[in-house]
Amino acid sequence: MEKSRSKVIVKSGYLFILTNFLLAVFNLAVGFLAGSLAITSDAAHSLIDAISGFVVVIGEKIAKQKKDKREKIERTTTVTIAVIIIVTGAHIAMEAIEKIAEGDSAPDYSIATIIILIGSIIAKFALAKYLYRRGEHYNSKVLFASGAETMNDMLISVAVFASVLFYFAWGIDIEAYVSIAISLIIFKIGLEFIFPKLSKHHHHPLETDPNHGTV
Ligand SMILES: [Zn+2]
Repeated sequence: MEKSRSKVIVKSGYLFILTNFLLAVFNLAVGFLAGSLAITSDAAHSLIDAISGFVVVIGEKIAKQKKDKREKIERTTTVTIAVIIIVTGAHIAMEAIEKIAEGDSAPDYSIATIIILIGSIIAKFALAKYLYRRGEHYNSKVLFASGAETMNDMLISVAVFASVLFYFAWGIDIEAYVSIAISLIIFKIGLEFIFPKLSKHHHHPLETDPNHGTV
């Protein structure tokens, strides 16, 4: 029983990583093609979620090493990843502010854009539901937290989709504001890497190390 539980938790973690990675790839592609800052920002967020999930996997492996060595590796990876995340957030924020200031470069959405956006929303919703259900079944706080995280991520994709619909319906481009909101979320993830106690937002199913105390 105990063994199958941790297996399911680890499997859910891989599903979380894979889904976010695929979402990042598809959204980056359509985001670049459409010249859409909101979509590429959302893709960056998915990529960061996939990477941070992956870091947890590596962390679990490293946790089996000698203590002094482990702490050094953990500290270095954590700070490196946090810096990358914060720089990404800053880059998105700067582009968004530039876009607002210049007010040009209207996005060029296609049918593929719409399909990928709807697909992303459905995928995130399905993943969140799956994580919630598993979390309930196995009474796992981490799976629940990952489900909540994925549900938040789905709302972000809904906001991106709304900005596309806004543009189609009224020709109003609110993309830059959605991107600023996403950059703030990305900043928050970066800060959580450095100060893990800041919030419960970014837990991952792979945090199966009992020392984390959240499984
Ligand atoms: Zn996220």
